[in-house]
Amino acid sequence: MNRKYIIGIDLGGTNLKVALLDLKYNIVDKEIISTRSFLEKGELIIGIVHSINRVIKYNDLDKTDILGVGLGLPGPVDSRLGIVHFFPNIPGWREVGLRSILKGQLMLPVFIDNDAKIMALAEHRMGAARGFNNVLCMTLGTGIGGGIIIGGKLYRGFNNAAGEVGHLPINEYGKSCNCGSFGCLEAYIGNSRILNAARKEFKKTISLEELSLLAAKGNRSAIRIWRRVGKRLGFALAGVVNILNLDAVVMGGGVSNAGRVLFDSAKESLQNQAMSVQGGHVRIFRAKLGNDAGLIGAAIMVREGQAS
Ligand SMILES: [Zn+2]
Repeated sequence: MNRKYIIGIDLGGTNLKVALLDLKYNIVDKEIISTRSFLEKGELIIGIVHSINRVIKYNDLDKTDILGVGLGLPGPVDSRLGIVHFFPNIPGWREVGLRSILKGQLMLPVFIDNDAKIMALAEHRMGAARGFNNVLCMTLGTGIGGGIIIGGKLYRGFNNAAGEVGHLPINEYGKSCNCGSFGCLEAYIGNSRILNAARKEFKKTISLEELSLLAAKGNRSAIRIWRRVGKRLGFALAGVVNILNLDAVVMGGGVSNAGRVLFDSAKESLQNQAMSVQGGHVRIFRAKLGNDAGLIGAAIMVREGQAS
């Protein structure tokens, strides 16, 4: 059989993206729907199935042209058993056997995994981390996610839960965190914390984009906020780098758009804090695949899953 296309899906708290990709991971067609237009779990699953069928039909294909369906999901997932444990930002999902539900409705091979892991896979195979063997990929946004590549392979850990760099403890008396614990990195440099600091500093609500723009224009208060974020980030990364002896760190997500001011201070603080052997050569890159990383990674998961 000549299956030349893959369906890649990136489900977020805000948007559901469904794409048709060729075997070189080019996006041939894409549909974006608001996740909030689905009121509950059952509706969302039907929405995913309809969207997949629509994309196949609109491109004059049928299911025999599709190698499989890959989904990147916003929460802890057991990729081996095909189970969603829960989604922090989409209510109503607890221990859902999503893979078998979708398989039954689509009659196609289905693969699921956590979105940060899928982004790491995409950046390693096709993006900024290409050619590096031991990599941490971080997504910096409302939450902070991470995926670890060791020896060129995605490292999953015992429960497929490895890579939660946002919940690396950095302060034993620290602020409470969305995960239920306290003192985690995310509680200091997550989106909302940065916006709070900006609001206090400028006495008005200010977006991340505005804060980045101000810093780029030389505004000292904005630069100070980003430097503080970078410093904490680098401090936390030093711990990861010391333990895993990484050759590269890749950072993506909305917060990473702050650019140089953030990356330079993260690099400086990482190098000050890390042990010299490990910290001396580690490279920090900005993610390359942008908003499509999830879709590309989902397709890579299908292709590599089929091959193994
Ligand atoms: Zn936490």
